[in-house]
Amino acid sequence: MAEKRDFLDELIDLQSDWRALSDLPSNMVDSLVGEGDRPVFNPADYKEKPFANSNKCLRVASGREDVCSRCLDVCPVKGALRIHNKSVLIGDDCRKCGLCAAVCPTETISTRRHAPRQVYDQIARVASAYEQCYVTCTRALKRVPKGNEVVLACVGAVPRDLWFSLLADYDNINVYLPVGICDRCRTTTGEEVYTDAIATAEEWADAVMGLEADESAMDHEYTRAYKRSQFVSGAIHSAERLVSRTNPALAGAKAVAKKVSDHAKRLDQLQRDLESAVGAKASNNRQRVLTQGRKLMMGALQHDEGLADFIRLEAPVCDSSLCTMCGDCAQVCTTHALDLDRRGNVTVKNAYCVGCGACVIVCEDGALSMEPMDVHELVIPDKAAEELARRKAEAKAKASEYMEKGKQQLGRVADVLEKLDDGSGESGSEK
Ligand code: SF4
Ligand code: SF4
Repeated sequence: MAEKRDFLDELIDLQSDWRALSDLPSNMVDSLVGEGDRPVFNPADYKEKPFANSNKCLRVASGREDVCSRCLDVCPVKGALRIHNKSVLIGDDCRKCGLCAAVCPTETISTRRHAPRQVYDQIARVASAYEQCYVTCTRALKRVPKGNEVVLACVGAVPRDLWFSLLADYDNINVYLPVGICDRCRTTTGEEVYTDAIATAEEWADAVMGLEADESAMDHEYTRAYKRSQFVSGAIHSAERLVSRTNPALAGAKAVAKKVSDHAKRLDQLQRDLESAVGAKASNNRQRVLTQGRKLMMGALQHDEGLADFIRLEAPVCDSSLCTMCGDCAQVCTTHALDLDRRGNVTVKNAYCVGCGACVIVCEDGALSMEPMDVHELVIPDKAAEELARRKAEAKAKASEYMEKGKQQLGRVADVLEKLDDGSGESGSEK
């Protein structure tokens, strides 16, 4: 439902009309400026060669080729990525599409600027400030992006769990890809990767991602909240009643930055809460690894626990009557979600398990099998939000208590006044 407009909206519209008029001369100057002075679109600026932390690779940990080959299968350049001598190697012929990083369950492969949390923040900033946010690729856009366009080397570089958390937290995220663009792309595996990832994320988040194929239909409006915070800050400045040193042009951006940084703090707190509840280390003293994708997913679930009903995940279950305690499963699990303790019990901490199935593959005794897990286990109560809600409820209860007391006192005063009035009436009639 459209939000009700008020006087402030009218003022904002008037101000932007006035700005458009006063900008006319500068627009004319712009058109006379030489090409060299304008920002230039260079696809290489949006691409980044990934690096690998081979210690996290399931194939390296197990020394077996049948355990995982997701990165090798998805790489569009034959031989650009190799796993050799216990190392994941990325050659100079890498196309920098980011697909290997997106499909690797353990986040063995990553990039500095496009790690899941950074991409989340980048898209969240845009989705908070603009009516619509568009995620696209260098091939589709072919120009310097506008404020609400997020350009990636390939749309397939966004992992499933990241799409899920974005769809769960925002309802204005779209993919912009002209019809048929992927058919002519040399990153031949990208379309399949993003189709799978987005379809699963939509199912899990019970939401639909917008798809825009026509560039002229894209909307570049700021959100109402963003425009209002900029306008109010500007008004405070022009009235010379400076209550803060915030530049009015940055006021909206500052509010958005705070929202993103609050989200990051909440995720870090979530990890600390998880570690104190489940234990940060496995029995071999190895630090358990919570992938960025899983952390983002858990952050979204903390906000909306009901979404756990839509998510389908599997985790290993051990039949202890078949287990010979060889320890192969614990050795291959590079997130250290699976633990074989000194008494020979296999335990799995589902929050850390990425469902790769490597432990099941390496178990020669058939003691492990992948079974559907209860996703509600991934919901970590947000203690700060609970405390805030408790304080709000307390304040509300106190306010209604005072209101009730006030009403009673007013009632008593009214009674007294009525009696006085009756008394004066009676004495008047006696005269
Ligand atoms: S996808 Fe990741 S875990 Fe699997 S082989 Fe490649 S680097 Fe190793
Ligand atoms: S416990 Fe989970 S993360 Fe570890 S190897 Fe098994 S399926 Fe993979």
